[in-house]
Amino acid sequence: MTQTTMPGGFFSYRGSIHNHSTYSDGTGSFDELVQAAAGAGLDYFILTDHNQLVDQSLQGWRSGVLTLIDIEVNDMALVPERNHLLTLNVDEDMTPFASDPQGLIDAVRERGGLTFLAHPIDLPGPIITDIYPWTEWDIEGFTGVELWNFMSEFRVHATSKPVAVIMAYFPQLFTTGPYPQMLAKWDELLQQHPTAAIGGPDAHAQIYELGPLKRRFLPYDYCFRAVLTHIVASEPFNRDFEHDKRLVYEALGAARAWIGYDMLHPTEGFSYIGETEKRIVQMGESASLGDQPTLKIETPASAHIKLIRAGSGVVAESKGRALSYQPAQPGAYRVEVWKKWWFKPRGWIFSNPIYIR
Ligand SMILES: [Zn+2]
Ligand SMILES: [Zn+2]
Repeated sequence: MTQTTMPGGFFSYRGSIHNHSTYSDGTGSFDELVQAAAGAGLDYFILTDHNQLVDQSLQGWRSGVLTLIDIEVNDMALVPERNHLLTLNVDEDMTPFASDPQGLIDAVRERGGLTFLAHPIDLPGPIITDIYPWTEWDIEGFTGVELWNFMSEFRVHATSKPVAVIMAYFPQLFTTGPYPQMLAKWDELLQQHPTAAIGGPDAHAQIYELGPLKRRFLPYDYCFRAVLTHIVASEPFNRDFEHDKRLVYEALGAARAWIGYDMLHPTEGFSYIGETEKRIVQMGESASLGDQPTLKIETPASAHIKLIRAGSGVVAESKGRALSYQPAQPGAYRVEVWKKWWFKPRGWIFSNPIYIR
């Protein structure tokens, strides 16, 4: 377990949300995924097969990983396919509600569940043109967005078949970060209402053949080391399934989480808090300007830290391992940390916001 103690008496855990097995269109069995998650040292792992609730009795602490089962729901009658929604913490298949996105969001919320729009901004590439964006933006009451969908990023980088082959062998050369359009969309949402963010590998481990070459693209053990969602839990895990499950969904629902591209460098030890005389403010929470909060960021390695106010862009930045800032204006303040690798800045950490009122 990679439990890290966080400011304010919280604990961080590393996990992977949004994964497909042979129960839907993934190529790995449930056991294969659990073993890959354990091998990658994940603390929690969420299976989200398409439009079906996989046997709930498979949930539990498996091979040292808190294993949870949820669903990625979409209206299967809709052509072209779009509006994929991750419904978390609902022990019911919500697919029958899928034809009405707002009805689906409401139904999940009524059952105490969470809703994240999966790959909401999905861009076509030159050779892979199928996309599954979110198109119904006249919605409210959803928990958040999948800010970085690891799979979807590669589509735009695959500019030709030879490039796609190089990508299959060296995906890390291409990995850059969430789409800039998605970051902009999130900032737009943050100016309207609190919106949590998660990252997901959307792991399928598809097998591609090109002439004599046959290769699994982004295998599970790779995905589970790449784009992770680190939660900041209010208590430590105690290996009691119901207790620990509650901590994961509580943190995700409260937006106490950051997205880490941990393959570049582990992101444990990252922290982003607001400090006032009275208390410590966590990601997803708000502080009043009158309390003169200081926003404090620390990273486990030297990198380019940017503090962003949704709608105004970068308000403070530093190259190093820390940044402090006293906001003078209300707004949603979030952190991006970029780290250079192979001559190019790579998105390393994307925090959830702290809201200044
Ligand atoms: Zn999807
Ligand atoms: Zn998916």
